[in-house]
Amino acid sequence: MAAPVLPETPLAASSPAGPSARAPARAANAPRALRLQPSQGRRLAQRAWQTLHQDPARALALAERALVALAAAEPPDLPAQAWAHLARGFHRLYFSTPAEARPDLHRAEEVFAAAAERDGHLLAQTGLARCLWRDGHISQALDAVLPLRDEGLRVLKDAQRGVLLNTIAGCYSALGQSEQAFAYLYQALRDARPARGQGFDTVLYCNLSHELLQLGDYHEALRYVEEGVQRSRRQANPRLLSVLLINRVICLTEMNRAAAALPDILHLCALPADAQGRGSTAAHFETLAIAALRAGLDDLGEELVALARPRVRAGAADETAELAVAEVLLARARDDQAAARSALHLALQLVQADPPGLSLRVRCLVHSAASELHEAQGDAAAALVQLRQCQQLQWQRAQWASRARYQAAALQTELIRLHHRLEENDERRRATERARAELEAMNQKLSQTVQEVQALQLALQRQATRDELTGLYNRRHLNDTLPGLMAQAQRQQQPLAVVLIDLDHFKAINDTHGHPAGDTLLAAFGQMLAARARKSDTACRYGGEEFCLLLPRTTAAAARRLTQALLRLWREQTFSFGGQALAAQSFSAGVADSLQCPASPALLLKAADDQLLAAKRAGRRRVLAAEGPPPRALAPA
Ligand code: GH3
Ligand code: MG
Ligand code: MG
Repeated sequence: MAAPVLPETPLAASSPAGPSARAPARAANAPRALRLQPSQGRRLAQRAWQTLHQDPARALALAERALVALAAAEPPDLPAQAWAHLARGFHRLYFSTPAEARPDLHRAEEVFAAAAERDGHLLAQTGLARCLWRDGHISQALDAVLPLRDEGLRVLKDAQRGVLLNTIAGCYSALGQSEQAFAYLYQALRDARPARGQGFDTVLYCNLSHELLQLGDYHEALRYVEEGVQRSRRQANPRLLSVLLINRVICLTEMNRAAAALPDILHLCALPADAQGRGSTAAHFETLAIAALRAGLDDLGEELVALARPRVRAGAADETAELAVAEVLLARARDDQAAARSALHLALQLVQADPPGLSLRVRCLVHSAASELHEAQGDAAAALVQLRQCQQLQWQRAQWASRARYQAAALQTELIRLHHRLEENDERRRATERARAELEAMNQKLSQTVQEVQALQLALQRQATRDELTGLYNRRHLNDTLPGLMAQAQRQQQPLAVVLIDLDHFKAINDTHGHPAGDTLLAAFGQMLAARARKSDTACRYGGEEFCLLLPRTTAAAARRLTQALLRLWREQTFSFGGQALAAQSFSAGVADSLQCPASPALLLKAADDQLLAAKRAGRRRVLAAEGPPPRALAPA
């Protein structure tokens, strides 16, 4: 065997055992002992998730630091922790194994569910479905992820939505349903456009190229690979670049340009199998070996075959078949016909068994290698059989490709329709909210108007029942209430006293001091009456300088005493007006009660007025009460 062509160190570091046994390659990945503020923890967790596809190593370091900071947060911010777990879970899903990713994803799912953070919850569930997919349980993965689609389209945006749709596409791709895979990938590409995609569009270019090369559309696949490689230059995601390069190696090999794949092969071999490189996922040395051997680089091919042998995963049909083809090509290069035949036998056996996961591309690869070998060994008939097989499969691929184009278009239309429906619903919701807001504003205005009207009514009522100058009730109110009070008094067999008061010689006050001075006295008299009246009494301005008191449960005699007290009080009052002393004069009053005069309000008033007149005639400044029949003269009601 020739001297090794490949660099030693990175390959020696790569082991199929996975990264769990290795220490992190860079200190950046280790959690820092430094205590951070909890709010910083939340920011770090969110940034970790957003950086995941751009710079996974940094994302992991951010997630670890966030978890340290948030562990000390008081009160605890569980959703922020969940974002950090989500970022670390996805990182492990990409660079390590599903078994290592699951604890983080489960924790995130649990917390997001409890906190009702729908976006985080959907992404954690998507991650768990991806674990199933990585473990080869494709149908289960699809069953887990497909029900998330409709809510995901509503709740998730941009790259996050891309993560969900890409996972659905991955399941369909693994099930050989390219048309579905295409539809979801194209939709995801629209959502995770460069400006908002946080680097996720590169993942989609990579996966689209993979899907295209399954269908044999190598030119188109190469176009997508180039697009992805271009974008990945602005990212620090070596694993993503490695998958793109493997796809490019396949394209170039299938297009008979294997020699052009040499730089990619060397780049891939130099990548370490950890989070700083391509992760612990399949290195696909068998694919690289085929390319090297097709390019005539036999020594490199031999080295790659040797690297592939212990790494091909059990049950990975494509890898096993590709390794067998690489063994055929290597044996032919070394002119070992027997070894070539036995390797071919293994490859054909596998194709015949048709295990799940064996792609059309690899089956074609086996038949075409078989045809070449038979031809080289002079067995034209056997070569033709293999060629026919190969042709048959190519025809099938072409059929799939054209069907894929149709169905992808149909599915995209369905997704667009779904989008429109969501937008319509959104618009309807917004319109309802607008209508509700308008209604609320109208209600507010209405209740304001009602309040104004009520206040106005109150003011009007006051105006209608009150005398403006004195604040006492007016005569209209007296006329309105007197019949009721009298009826009530009769029902209760209680007296209702009526007192009519007329200020003495009031005209002289006006004449001497002026009308405004008279007004002041009238207002003061009103205030005095209001202050002395009981709650149940009614004090009114009867007109001009005349006043009336309605005193329930009061006899004329009691009312007379009360009014005499008022007269004394009034006479003691002095006022000053315009610097001049103004003595309150006297008043005359007449009193009657309803027991003496039960016939009608008018007669009761008249009885009091008669007494007032008598008081005036008797020289004023006195209170006279009608002498009527005693209370017992009233027949019980
Ligand atoms: P008497 O003792 O007989 O009652 O004499 P008097 O002057 O009080 O009676 P008269 O009926 O002759 O005059 C009443 C006066 O009351 C005349 C009127 O100008 C005055 N007056 C009536 N209403 C008002 C008012 O609102 N403000 C003022 N300042 N004076 C009023
Ligand atoms: Mg008068
Ligand atoms: Mg008078």
